[in-house]
Amino acid sequence: MDDKMITISDKTLCSGCAACANACSVNAILMQEDDEGFLYPLVDLSLCVKCSKCVQVCPYVNLEFTVKNDSEELSECYAAYNKNEEIRSRSSSGGMFRAFADKILLENGVVFGAVFDDEFKVYHKSARTAEEVEEMMGSKYLQSRMEMVCREVEEELNKGLKVLFSGVACQIAGLRRFLKQEHENLICIDVICCSVGSPKIWREYLNNLFPDGQISLVNFRDKTSGWDSSTMKIRSGKQEYVCCIYDDMYFKSLRKNVFSRPSCGTCKFKNRNRVSDITLADCWGFSKIAPEMNDNRGLSSVVVHTEKGAKLLSEVRGDLVLKEAFLLDFERFNSNYIRPESFDKKIRDKFWDDYKRLPIEQLIVKYSKTKKEAILIRVLRKVFGKILHNKIKKLVRLVLNVLHNRRGAKQVLQDDKRFNETFRFNGRNMPLHFKKRPEWKLIVLYRKYQANYDNIWVCIIGICWIAKDVKSVLILKGI
Ligand SMILES: Cc1cc2nc3c(=O)[nH]c(=O)nc-3n(C[C@H](O)[C@H](O)[C@H](O)COP(=O)(O)OP(=O)(O)OC[C@H]3O[C@@H](n4cnc5c(N)ncnc54)[C@H](O)[C@@H]3O)c2cc1C
Ligand code: SF4
Ligand code: SF4
Ligand code: SF4
Repeated sequence: MDDKMITISDKTLCSGCAACANACSVNAILMQEDDEGFLYPLVDLSLCVKCSKCVQVCPYVNLEFTVKNDSEELSECYAAYNKNEEIRSRSSSGGMFRAFADKILLENGVVFGAVFDDEFKVYHKSARTAEEVEEMMGSKYLQSRMEMVCREVEEELNKGLKVLFSGVACQIAGLRRFLKQEHENLICIDVICCSVGSPKIWREYLNNLFPDGQISLVNFRDKTSGWDSSTMKIRSGKQEYVCCIYDDMYFKSLRKNVFSRPSCGTCKFKNRNRVSDITLADCWGFSKIAPEMNDNRGLSSVVVHTEKGAKLLSEVRGDLVLKEAFLLDFERFNSNYIRPESFDKKIRDKFWDDYKRLPIEQLIVKYSKTKKEAILIRVLRKVFGKILHNKIKKLVRLVLNVLHNRRGAKQVLQDDKRFNETFRFNGRNMPLHFKKRPEWKLIVLYRKYQANYDNIWVCIIGICWIAKDVKSVLILKGI
């Protein structure tokens, strides 16, 4: 990037957050669509005064303000859903967003979130009434245009109003860089994202389904047949398209990341130190995390990172059913929390090559198929990952016990239950002196590994490690 004004030489380093366009006081930046349908800033050189404000606000140039808490150990985690069944049924997971948004409206605040435009593309806008907030409900699996929303947020904050901004993490990072300072009245909620799809492909997909263009409803995740078999529902006139999200071609090829935004493959904002006050996601792994709460009507995971977030949650607690959970479990069952999706550049390039010559229906069918080799690799990863996982767990337990015995600690972590409790502990109320011990450092290391246990490199390293039989060497040496 030029240090005087924004230029995009590497598309993986621009999330399209539009903070630069919002920051330009002479409106010299236009967010322009590229061949893939994603927006990137383009500077009108005849207007630019080379003030470099656009460079300063870019979260890819400067990460200040894009991290909220100092440590993952501050996080409070819950499995949760909204008690209001109607709200819950119309939301993509547990209806948590609406609970927070309603509270802000009650305080005469303003809510910002993603809505459909007339062509069923997505953009961010403000809402001051329940009807307007309703439009924001439900996940829309394509990139939302940020327009001049950062400026609008700043205006509302300057008026002294409470503002809730909801969106994906890179949008929040851009907004916070734009604002440049903490605002007591601003609360940011991010929804975990796998990646965002191309608005261009989405539009062509819709046109192909309903060429007459009379679409009146789109619901990416209709829960009429149950949350675990959510369906894509699109209505045009009297016709309705309903397809399980695991079979729908748009979803299937989106999951392969062939038309996802390039920056999503190297996402900087997926980590434990989130940019938001609260993170929302689907509570995958519910059968382990909160089996008693799953009635197939939608369950959210909620991670609170800041005091402000904790306060808002406590204020809406009465509207929710909540169960305390462990961050580690969320990460294990929902890897999108901490690591970017893997993009296969070759396949992605091929998709866009094919795009030039194949009609959309053929293109999307071609790229939604799962190759046999890919299925095999996925199964191997899971199987080897699991075997390795059990071995490492036993080994770490052994080392922990040795360390504890050596220091003559009264409580030796011998039985599985206690061991698991310690391992899954969020660390929030852990006494400081415990955190200085090597045991805790080992636990932290183990947790990092555990969240990545099915990563192919972790598996390969692990397999080599098992082959060397480190465990028996350790035992022989009496460590
Ligand atoms: C593109 C995308 C990908 C996602 N991928 C995952 C995933 O891989 N794993 C997972 O656990 N959860 C994912 N989610 C989040 C999840 O689907 C729910 O949105 C989230 O759990 C909140 O659900 P809710 O029931 O509380 O509220 P809902 O009413 O379902 O969600 C509404 C919220 O989502 C925001 N939103 C909707 N569409 C967009 C968009 N295009 N861009 C920015 N913000 C948007 C709205 O502003 C609002 O805040 C994704 C969401 C999106 C938008
Ligand atoms: S350098 Fe200043 S004037 Fe030029 S595009 Fe950036 S913000 Fe606008
Ligand atoms: S501020 Fe946002 S839109 Fe502008 S260059 Fe940086 S990432 Fe891209
Ligand atoms: S994956 Fe990262 S870059 Fe992509 S939309 Fe989500 S937060 Fe933004």
